[in-house]
Amino acid sequence: MELTGRAVEQRLRALLIAPPGAGKGTQAVRLCAHFGVSHISTGEVFRREVDRGTELGSRVAAYLSRGDLVPDGLVGDVVRFEVLRAVAETGGYLLDGFPRTLAQAEGAHALALELGIAAHAVLTFDVPRAVLLDRLLGRASVEGRHDDTEDTICHRIEVYDTQTAPLLDYYARRGVLIRVDADRPVDEVTAASIEALEAALTAAGAPIDR
Ligand code: AMP
Repeated sequence: MELTGRAVEQRLRALLIAPPGAGKGTQAVRLCAHFGVSHISTGEVFRREVDRGTELGSRVAAYLSRGDLVPDGLVGDVVRFEVLRAVAETGGYLLDGFPRTLAQAEGAHALALELGIAAHAVLTFDVPRAVLLDRLLGRASVEGRHDDTEDTICHRIEVYDTQTAPLLDYYARRGVLIRVDADRPVDEVTAASIEALEAALTAAGAPIDR
């Protein structure tokens, strides 16, 4: 085997934080395909556990149906397991819907440092409030997600504003936040996100939490 001395290719590790209805799920799938990394959606993990009737599912079901956040203690173990699996399988990850509280962000930071798998960038999508509501109500009639009733939708947006949105300042202050205008066609959002994440990955060669 020839040793070229070239650095091993660095796979993307990123966080995606955006309000309900901003297109996280759709974009995450496309971005993961482009970068060849694993998609971890904490919301999907929890919904699957509820559908399977597991013990974890029974502990989180009521939070999901109300649109409240699952307690940080239950989220941490899931994320640790999924991130380790992702890094082993593809060398990278896009975490969709995590972190959602400052405590989760701080826990993730400590864990990432410990494991040497810190994120390179944090991506967020800007979408006007009225557009979010329209999209979510539209999705409710098509997908029939349990937490897509009008009351729950409004509550989830409120929970995002009070508990999750403050994280954007936290990451902006650390100079790692990428904001993408997501009130435009899906392909344009994907292209803008890819461009910004590629730039972050190139510039990084150095993960944000080193
Ligand atoms: P999502 O699919 O990202 O919209 O998440 C659906 C639901 O899963 C949320 O409304 C929460 O109840 C729960 N959830 C997902 N991710 C988290 C997280 N990081 N922290 C707490 N709860 C979460």
